[in-house]
Amino acid sequence: MEECPSCAIEVAHKPEVCPYCGYEFPRQSSSRTLMAWVMAILLAWPLFEVIKLIF
Ligand SMILES: [Zn+2]
Repeated sequence: MEECPSCAIEVAHKPEVCPYCGYEFPRQSSSRTLMAWVMAILLAWPLFEVIKLIF
């Protein structure tokens, strides 16, 4: 069960929009997950380079 953060009504399976108050649920899009991975790799890359230089 998901709870609408706007009206606190419980809804089965997270809908796109709350059927009671019209609150738009934030989408867990795959592109956002991909962006998070790209950011993580970009942040970790200099660390890998340093490790390669040391060893
Ligand atoms: Zn709602």
